[in-house]
Amino acid sequence: MRLSRYFLPLLKETPAEAEIVSHRLMLRAGMVRQSSAGIYVWLPLGLKVLQKIEQIVREEQNRAGALEVLMPTVQSAELWHESGRYDAYGPEMLRISDRHDREMLYGPTNEEQITDIFRRHVKSYKDLPLNLYQIQWKFRDEIRPRFGVMRGREFLMKDNYSFDLDHDGAVRSYNAMFAAYLRTFSRLGLRAIPMKADTGPIGGDLSHEFIILAPTGESAVFFDRGFDDLDPLADQSDDPDAATLHAIRERWTSLYAATDEVHDAAACPVPAERLVTGRGIEVGHIFNFGTKYSEPMGATVQGPDGQMVPVQMGSYGIGISRLVGAVIEASHDDAGIVWPASVAPFDGGLINLRAGDERCTGVCDDVYAKLGVLGLDVLYDDTAERPGAKFAAMDLIGLPWSLTIGPRGLDQGVVELKDRASGEKAEISLESALARIA
Ligand code: ATP
Ligand code: MG
Ligand code: MG
Ligand code: MG
Repeated sequence: MRLSRYFLPLLKETPAEAEIVSHRLMLRAGMVRQSSAGIYVWLPLGLKVLQKIEQIVREEQNRAGALEVLMPTVQSAELWHESGRYDAYGPEMLRISDRHDREMLYGPTNEEQITDIFRRHVKSYKDLPLNLYQIQWKFRDEIRPRFGVMRGREFLMKDNYSFDLDHDGAVRSYNAMFAAYLRTFSRLGLRAIPMKADTGPIGGDLSHEFIILAPTGESAVFFDRGFDDLDPLADQSDDPDAATLHAIRERWTSLYAATDEVHDAAACPVPAERLVTGRGIEVGHIFNFGTKYSEPMGATVQGPDGQMVPVQMGSYGIGISRLVGAVIEASHDDAGIVWPASVAPFDGGLINLRAGDERCTGVCDDVYAKLGVLGLDVLYDDTAERPGAKFAAMDLIGLPWSLTIGPRGLDQGVVELKDRASGEKAEISLESALARIA
């Protein structure tokens, strides 16, 4: 992409309304603009990152055997009356009435909708297990939308729902998602720690929040130092069996980890010298809730013995738009964002230091074409801006590497290749630069 043809409205000033670094950087880097409180426009650069995260989440869901569907954002209130949540949900739910005065709502989550789909089409244990997911916008009328996309009112979530005949099956589905989440966050370059979450009246121990550490996180977190030694990709074979999945969850839940919601200092089993305290951001949440929805909504299946039983369900969420901010919270420096390669909006940048110089521009155009042939998606700064501004912009948007070509370097037969994360710069021949990039 030639910068001269792109839409990248960078901000020079630090926006006063942004309290945390990811929000500031997303505004300054031209990724998002607020439309109204907690509701954002995604500009081209931000949308690219959002879509990259979405795709990684999608690949890991598919890999774990979940099937993608797409449910509407606007739902009829009827199903929510059936489950009893229409009244229980409170003011976070945006309630709408249509022209016929029918109660509608902008979905904050989709348990009711998916349970309805299930009960209409699945009648037998032979069709189980089933796991359906979607990546869709949600609306929650948060009392205090803040931190940019991290606590928006409209936000993009991956939500999925598992259906099993019995508790053992439900545990297997839970473990499969647990393992998939470890893989997902690791691919996003994040260190996520599963922490025991409150199960409320459902009870049991099958609810975990996946938390990444950041000083600006909204929850205080307490966890065993032993998490440092765990590898999220260990034993993550293709098509793992139930025992392997169980072992993965065991390994990650045998160590203590809890947010302030459930942490009890008096009952904490971790000795002080092993206990790490900090702050964290909830990026995912998995929850087995048994028959909470299937019972009131009559989602039953026939078991092998001919008996009809309410189906066992779980739900699993990942905050995709929140993750854009969370990745930045975890990876930035004074100059700007430092994208992990897996979610970077472009593979790298190419800077023409002297757009008015015919030879230099010829070389840059040629390199840009070559990088395209190599299959790389490159942001090519072909504008007439001064060099300092170009470097600052590249650092701000945080592409993994940038290749700078100028007339003086060309005289000496060198270009400059910079690694954004380490800041290391190498003056090398164009050939070796291309070899390193490819
Ligand atoms: P929080 O505790 O941050 O309010 P939650 O527990 O209400 O989140 P869940 O119902 O568990 O959220 O939804 C699944 C995921 O959706 C969360 O783990 C989070 O990543 C994301 N999410 C929830 N609320 C928001 C929001 N207002 N803005 C952006 N992402 C959100
Ligand atoms: Mg919430
Ligand atoms: Mg929460
Ligand atoms: Mg939650």
